[in-house]
Amino acid sequence: MAYAQLGKTGEKLSEIGLGTWQLGSNEPREVEALSAGFDSGINFVDTAEMYGTETLVAKAISGKDGMFVASKVSPTHFHYDDVISACDGSLRRLGIKHIDLYQLHWPNRSVPIGETMRAMEKLVEDGKIRYIGVSNFSVVEMRAAQAALKRNELVSNQVEYSLLVRDPEPDLTKYCRRERISIIAYSPLSRGHLFDPRYSKLIEFLAETGRKHGKTATQVAINWLICKGNVIPIPRASRKEHVLELSGAMGWRLAKEEMLALDSFLSSFRRRSLASVTKPAMNSHPFVTHALTWLSSLRSKKED
Ligand code: NAP
Repeated sequence: MAYAQLGKTGEKLSEIGLGTWQLGSNEPREVEALSAGFDSGINFVDTAEMYGTETLVAKAISGKDGMFVASKVSPTHFHYDDVISACDGSLRRLGIKHIDLYQLHWPNRSVPIGETMRAMEKLVEDGKIRYIGVSNFSVVEMRAAQAALKRNELVSNQVEYSLLVRDPEPDLTKYCRRERISIIAYSPLSRGHLFDPRYSKLIEFLAETGRKHGKTATQVAINWLICKGNVIPIPRASRKEHVLELSGAMGWRLAKEEMLALDSFLSSFRRRSLASVTKPAMNSHPFVTHALTWLSSLRSKKED
């Protein structure tokens, strides 16, 4: 089994983890899919209080040894007491004694980062979480987050990164490599957009590249991220056959020339149009959806 190292921790994670955003519409099938992935050697799963999938994850990891569980605290819970109670809620839903990696889901400028990180360090001290990570942080925000930590180091930043969305390159990827902070690549299949007919030429190219390795286009797309180094992709799949295919993205490497050929093929796409196709409209982003729901609940309380 090939492993990736999480930051400087020495912690061995499978080369990919499994994401769980938007799961929950067919729980038995999804639990079976996740569970099959864990049986195939994937030991890393990602969730968040915002996703509503922590109880589903609890079912999928039940009885599995050596799982590494990551969750996230929502930006609306970044005040000290809120971080502590959000973590307690996640632990209860996940049915575990500690969360391996607890991440700040998104920066929130209205709460001083020092206050949030004081709570995160208290959680480490109390044994409720093992490592501290961030998500959707820029280099500047990562520096501030690290400076706010007194006794711990940031181990990861979870950001969108895929063949179609390469925003972390080069600033964030360079910074993280230098600081030995892992990049956890979310939406590595661009939320499934990669399979849109408009990218059929790219899929053909990926499939052709994979043929020499006995691998599929999807496996090449994920392996491309693994080959970047210091990157752990966390694709999501709700079907067992998809998860097992994803599992085959681990344990091998594209050749240097294949990476170069893929890069030059990609540069023939216009990046701007790709980003606008693959990035969610701002009002459909999970954080914004959450904030809008919260605002409308306040409004309906007022109206009551
Ligand atoms: P993704 O992994 O880029 O794409 C998921 C889509 O790919 C699903 O429609 C899935 O279909 C399809 N798929 C997976 N394996 C496939 C295969 N072998 N063949 C064909 N299709 C396949 O999407 P994502 O959920 O946006 O990103 C992954 C994870 O990243 C999330 O679940 C979440 O944990 C994390 N994330 C984090 C943030 C953040 O702000 N930190 C934001 C977004 C996502 P099926 O469902 O049919 O299998």
